[in-house]
Amino acid sequence: MESFLIQRATRQQSVFAGAVALLILLTLAVAAPRADLQWPAIGPFMPMCALTVFTTAAIAAFLLGAQFNVMRQPMLAALGGAYAFTALAVALQLLMFPGVFSPTGLLGAHPASAMWMWVFWHGGFPLFVIVAMLVRDRLPHEAVPARHVRQWAWLLIGGPVAVGAVLCSIALLVDLPPPLGAPGSNATAAHPVSVILWAINAIAVLAVVAGGRLRTVLDLWLVVAALACFTDTSLNLLTAGRFTVGWYMARLFSMFAPGVMVCALVWEVTALYRRLFEAHVSLRQASVHDALTGLYNRSYFNEQIGVQISAAQRNGQPLSLVMIDVDHFKRYNDAFGHLKGDACLAAVAGALAGVVRRPGDFVARYGGEEFVVVLPETNAHQAQALAERAREAVLRLRIEATAPSRYVTVSAGCTTVVPGAGALSILSIDTLVETADAALYRAKAAGRNLVMTAEPMPAALT
Ligand code: GH3
Ligand code: MG
Ligand code: MG
Repeated sequence: MESFLIQRATRQQSVFAGAVALLILLTLAVAAPRADLQWPAIGPFMPMCALTVFTTAAIAAFLLGAQFNVMRQPMLAALGGAYAFTALAVALQLLMFPGVFSPTGLLGAHPASAMWMWVFWHGGFPLFVIVAMLVRDRLPHEAVPARHVRQWAWLLIGGPVAVGAVLCSIALLVDLPPPLGAPGSNATAAHPVSVILWAINAIAVLAVVAGGRLRTVLDLWLVVAALACFTDTSLNLLTAGRFTVGWYMARLFSMFAPGVMVCALVWEVTALYRRLFEAHVSLRQASVHDALTGLYNRSYFNEQIGVQISAAQRNGQPLSLVMIDVDHFKRYNDAFGHLKGDACLAAVAGALAGVVRRPGDFVARYGGEEFVVVLPETNAHQAQALAERAREAVLRLRIEATAPSRYVTVSAGCTTVVPGAGALSILSIDTLVETADAALYRAKAAGRNLVMTAEPMPAALT
């Protein structure tokens, strides 16, 4: 089962991510010339967006950290670090923002503190994405040793968080001038800080594209996330005021950048669970079936016979067992070879399965050329009739054999237990099989191609 990290993206996934990326660029192209257009002011929009970014970025960081814990690929921790940084930066920006929790912002914020946090957030996230790409470049397929996972997590997730804390302290402790010039000056886009932010964002998009060449599922959605951050930054820088088209669209994209990663991670983890479940089901199928004949195997019989005996005892119903053995099969093998012998066994198995139709009944390959039929709620008479039908079904296959018989035949021994009726003896599973075997032996001794039935056993079953 391939990991989400190295699993190649399907064509469908590439097309979908490509369409989303195109839509982002198209929105940017349409919104950019109208960035300064004023829209109605919705006061709670900013804190609502900030809270959403904080929650989704924190979840993305957690999921990536959890993936790193399992996969031990350092790039996952580094990406987790980028999102953890985002969560911290956006939360602090919200606290410092004037007019949200207090008129001048909490934590003793200066007038430009929240603006600086915004700059740190929009420069820091793409920067840590670039770091993640560099980490992957250095350690492309290496999983870190299990005993070093904690140290790596501290370094790659804790590191960006520590950087965020330092930047926050700077924004709070130093009364810096506004980072992008005076608000409303319209010189924002050409400001050196803007140019640096644009450059970092553009480099992050290029680094993800060049680093992974869009081969894996993670690469695809990381490009979309980096592109969303680029668009968010661009639209914000293109408008000087609040509640403009650029301002609103930028906030939408700021929610999209961590949101897309959370969706991709949850989707992949769910898909992984589905594949795991399917693998479990097919493994279980393989473990209870016989490869040659497709019937249930001996271990399934051993597991089920106990269950059936208990059920028979509980319901006071009879339980029958038919042991079936191919006659003179050694001679058949000697005459036609093992491969033909195998094909013959598969055909016999098919014929036996064909006569067992009631739900609850089943045929298993007991071993070699011996089969066992388990028939719950079936009395001795019914079991004998079914064994007869099985014998005839094999004969009807008309598989050429050597003397003494013209066609391949089987012999069968039936046994039936009737729980509770007198409770004369205590019966084990082995005794049940031995009784059917004894009846089978009598059928062999009497000339083969025959069905024999043991006396019904009134029994208290164990
Ligand atoms: P009887 O009528 O008394 O049952 O005689 P028999 O020859 O069938 O019994 P015996 O136990 O002497 O031989 C069983 C043969 O079945 C021997 C073994 O090589 C063959 N056999 C068991 N399992 C397989 C198998 O999976 N494939 C093939 N081709 N032969 C098998
Ligand atoms: Mg045999
Ligand atoms: Mg045998």
